[in-house]
Amino acid sequence: MFSKILIANRGEIALRVQRACRELGIKTVAVHSEADADAKYVMLADESVCIGPAQSQGSYLNIPAIISAAEVTGAEAIHPGYGFLSENADFAERVENSGFVFIGPRPDTIRLMGDKISAKAAMKAAGVPVVPGSEGQLPDDPKALKTLAESIGYPVLIKAAAGGGVRGMRVVEREEDLLGFLNLTRTEARSAFGNDTVYMEKYLGQPRHIEIQVLSDEHGNAVYLGERDCSMQRRHQKIIEEAPAPGITEKMRAKVGGSCVEACKRIKYRGAGTFEFLYENGAFYFIEMNTRVQVEHPVTELITGIDIVQEQIRVSSGEHLSIRQKDVALRGHALECRINAEDPFTFVPSPGRITQYHVPGGPGVRVDSHVYQNYFVPPYYDSLIAKLLTHGATREQALARMRIALSEMVVEGIKTNIPLHQQLLLDKAFMAGGTSIHYLEEKLASEKAS
Ligand code: ADP
Repeated sequence: MFSKILIANRGEIALRVQRACRELGIKTVAVHSEADADAKYVMLADESVCIGPAQSQGSYLNIPAIISAAEVTGAEAIHPGYGFLSENADFAERVENSGFVFIGPRPDTIRLMGDKISAKAAMKAAGVPVVPGSEGQLPDDPKALKTLAESIGYPVLIKAAAGGGVRGMRVVEREEDLLGFLNLTRTEARSAFGNDTVYMEKYLGQPRHIEIQVLSDEHGNAVYLGERDCSMQRRHQKIIEEAPAPGITEKMRAKVGGSCVEACKRIKYRGAGTFEFLYENGAFYFIEMNTRVQVEHPVTELITGIDIVQEQIRVSSGEHLSIRQKDVALRGHALECRINAEDPFTFVPSPGRITQYHVPGGPGVRVDSHVYQNYFVPPYYDSLIAKLLTHGATREQALARMRIALSEMVVEGIKTNIPLHQQLLLDKAFMAGGTSIHYLEEKLASEKAS
């Protein structure tokens, strides 16, 4: 096991990883920008290094600065958290070439999963259900293209292989638009990603977002830790997550989970990962794999009792996965509300000083946050200030506990989306469970119109 880990991230996840390290008896190095010098996790870390200015480009994305911080502090491994460099294969490679362990999969695995065409092909080969579409790259011949779209069935979606953050995607409703939209997507992909490879798949109209959490080691052991429903989204940003997903049976879970485990074994996946699916009419369709720990991992921790970050660190150090599938039991129901520093209805970011801060507590409540009273939320980074989670024996109990927790939570001095969460926790369709990924935007639009 490692004796010292550098955490190449900030905010709540920097603190989350630090807590996992401390429990494992591992010393921690926090790296931070000038804007985060006073952060709680920087103070709590065994050592800290300032790696650059507030702007992420010069600090949290500054590969040479992060690697030299690991060198001067004698860290053995680097945990990338989520976002920033966590899915950057070149970073992982430079970390490993500099003699450190990257806490995550091998660089080649990140690369394989970072290209959507190769990821989809690898998943299909392992028996993971994928969205019907083109086998890889699209043909050049317009006639062959039209035949392909016809056979998939309109509407189709044109997607850039190198796409990310929802850029490089376009829905085509009619054959007349096919060639024009395809060229537009290619041009955009070329300028945004330097790669104009595009592919085509069936556009699903009202899907839910359901994802499978896995843990895997390089010795051929892998497990799935059930699913999470993350359908409550705005502009593809998840707002509420829960586990298990309403309506998913043990049989369906075992089938799709088993295929993810098979895929992990085939690609020799190392660490924690998430297979993201769209789910419609009882069927799962793989869209992408996240090769890192996710924001919403704690909902799975609450229902399984497994510390995902600790397991991720263990397997990255070369240890065998200590958990077998038969040891994984799902207990009760968990919810997560992402508390963001933003206007609850216009979504305009609201950085600034938190003048009052009280976190809720009581049975089944967990708060993952790096903020405190008098903390200044910097304007440079994403607006997540806390993750509020509840766990209950049933979904109803988790919902009730969340309503109480939201009513107890006080964040003054800045705006937060707590009022939006309070509305959603009383929303009939959400309470019934199983809303689609478009539900929140449609609800917001209809409220705006009325
Ligand atoms: P990114 O890497 O940009 O996140 P994804 O492939 O995960 O790209 O897709 C982003 C989002 O686009 C998904 O969460 C989903 O909302 C939507 N999407 C992707 N593929 C489809 C599809 N075949 N049909 C309908 N919506 C889709």
